[in-house]
Amino acid sequence: MSEISKLLSDVLGGHRLTGTEATRLLDTQGKEVFQITSAADEMRERHAEDIVTYVKNQNLHVTNICKNLCGFCGFGRSAGDEEAYCND
Ligand code: SF4
Repeated sequence: MSEISKLLSDVLGGHRLTGTEATRLLDTQGKEVFQITSAADEMRERHAEDIVTYVKNQNLHVTNICKNLCGFCGFGRSAGDEEAYCND
């Protein structure tokens, strides 16, 4: 039994993935990816059957001017930026 097969078997048996194990699954390539998707589908069926839910979230942006300017953000602009806007 391969490492991935053993891990998926453990998960289907109730084992909760560690961060390292989850990373190992994310790094998997080739045919073993189908084993992962099959196991994920089995878990989905166990937990949610065929019921699909989602959250509809809407954000109305009246301005993109922001004082924080977080390093990861591609949205916020400083007040003097040529891409800044403010809809009244
Ligand atoms: S995420 Fe962007 S818009 Fe939000 S506070 Fe940070 S810079 Fe401003």
